[in-house]
Amino acid sequence: MDVYKRNIELENEIKEKTEELNKANNTMLTMSSIWDMMNSSEPLTNVLDTIVNSLQSHMGYINTLVLTKELDENGHYFLVKSHSDSKVISKFQENNKLMSIKEFHIPYNENFILAQALKEHKIQTSTDITNVLHGVMSGLSHEFVQEVIRTTKSKSIIVVPLYRKQNESYIKDFEFGCLMVFSERSDVANTEINFLTVFANQIELAITIAALFEEVRKQAVTDPLTGLYNRRYFEENINREAERALRLGQPFSLVSLDLDHLKTINDTYGHQYGDVAIKTISDVLKQKARSIDIPARIGGEEFNVLLPGVDSYGAMMAAERIRAAIEATPLEKIGNVTASIGVATFLEHSKNVFELTELADQAMYQAKINGRNQVKMSQKQKEVNWQKVAVNAFLDIISKQRVQIPPDLAGDITARLSSVSIQDKDAKEVIYSVVDIITQSYNSTYQSGFTKSKLMLAVKLAKAMNMKNIEIDKLKIAILLYDIGNIMIPENIFRKEDALTEEEKELIKSHPVIAARDILKPISSIQDIIPIIEKHHENWDGSGYPGNASGKDIPLGSQIILLVDAYYALTQDRPYRKAFDIEKAVEIIQQGAGIKWSVELVDKFIPLVKHETE
Ligand code: GH3
Ligand code: MG
Repeated sequence: MDVYKRNIELENEIKEKTEELNKANNTMLTMSSIWDMMNSSEPLTNVLDTIVNSLQSHMGYINTLVLTKELDENGHYFLVKSHSDSKVISKFQENNKLMSIKEFHIPYNENFILAQALKEHKIQTSTDITNVLHGVMSGLSHEFVQEVIRTTKSKSIIVVPLYRKQNESYIKDFEFGCLMVFSERSDVANTEINFLTVFANQIELAITIAALFEEVRKQAVTDPLTGLYNRRYFEENINREAERALRLGQPFSLVSLDLDHLKTINDTYGHQYGDVAIKTISDVLKQKARSIDIPARIGGEEFNVLLPGVDSYGAMMAAERIRAAIEATPLEKIGNVTASIGVATFLEHSKNVFELTELADQAMYQAKINGRNQVKMSQKQKEVNWQKVAVNAFLDIISKQRVQIPPDLAGDITARLSSVSIQDKDAKEVIYSVVDIITQSYNSTYQSGFTKSKLMLAVKLAKAMNMKNIEIDKLKIAILLYDIGNIMIPENIFRKEDALTEEEKELIKSHPVIAARDILKPISSIQDIIPIIEKHHENWDGSGYPGNASGKDIPLGSQIILLVDAYYALTQDRPYRKAFDIEKAVEIIQQGAGIKWSVELVDKFIPLVKHETE
């Protein structure tokens, strides 16, 4: 009998020890997976989710939660930060369909087990589950609570306080919250308390590391692979730049760049070569950037460069330099890589940072579609009326003395333009008169009033050609500005009665266009007008000047200007000839169909002037 009893005792002891060993083993396994999580850069929530689920599955708890202590204007409360997938939770969720368990505010009550654990810095246990559940969520029905206890076989609840360690010893550890487990054993053994303490230490470590990680992440401004600025730094700066741009009325540009066919490089040569391509491009960006530019790596193979103070014209040049440099930098094994680039300019394309980023991105995408390895400017034009653009352009020309006109005249023009309110019906009249005044300042034979009629005729022709409104607005501005380069021509040439010499013809031909370009180039709001002006002496058959465009390569706006300008020249007196009558002018224009102008344009034009004369 004695031997038998001893055997039974020994067997029980073995069973107990085995269980303990198993538990220790499970703890090890759980710890190891937690360590894996912590070595990765997973956010804290993932780490906590792993811990609570491991506690439940490996340690045999019914339900495990991590709660955080929070504060709002109504005082402290607890929130469920993480919970295991347990019966208790699903029961609660069934009972309260309106709200996720994670949104529920658990009251902070000094006598409640959660607050007590934190305050006393000590693990708390309770077998009065009913009381605890009511404390978590007041207003639960008695039946519901009893059912939870019965169906989940909960016998006790253990609460371990959690603190975030501070690295300065003089700061009190931060009260993070609690770990709460539901156990099916009513007596809580010391070994169990020890296990839970070890776990709690791990959670605290995770919390502390996550907080440090967040801190470091916040402080970091560079991307480790490339040494370029990171996304966060870039975003901070683009917002600051936008504020400044709005305040000072100065543009800045955003260059958005994406490597071409990186996936193919990765697939063909391996990921490390893809990384080499990314690094090489980053080096090019660093080399090409001015000290105030901000080249940043936004995502895997996505780069942005912020160019403070640069308008779209300058940005296109900068982007083109970057594109060419990337193409010209061969990489080991891979050979040459290319990038597609989009450009958008704040104030010109948008006054909103988010939209600007979208626009630069769309332009980049457009560059991809068009065949990659190229730069595209955003197509979106800010909705501004053409009068405003024109008024500002003239104010810029006069105030910055981009053309030589007498100071009193400049004063007069500035006064007129400054008084214009854009909604004003007279705005247009003021603009026409300004163009008339400027034209007369270098050509005294010029008669006032023609600017307006030229513009109106050009618009009629544009509409007859089904030009889009946005293009018509550009044409209107171009009509006002295309002759501004004439101001650089000596006045005696305009008054000359004899035929012009070859030399003078040359001067009249190319010089004004070059001058117009020089005068207008610095004005960022009219960059898309310049190409129209530059080509307004090109002929349909390519015989015009500068002679590098023909047919459909000539913007329609340029063709319209050439035709309308010719018509007015023909029907006006010139120092060297009398005005032609309209019949004759039309005849001369007709002869130029297919040579100077497209046949279609002439066909649409003739009825317009005939109608006019009638
Ligand atoms: P596309 O010219 O249209 O841009 O072609 P793509 O292959 O470059 O573009 P896609 O967007 O289809 O694929 C981007 C690829 O870039 C997929 C991704 O694996 C790879 N990538 C992203 N970040 C990195 C990185 O840091 N290193 C490496 N090696 N590859 C990366
Ligand atoms: Mg790509």
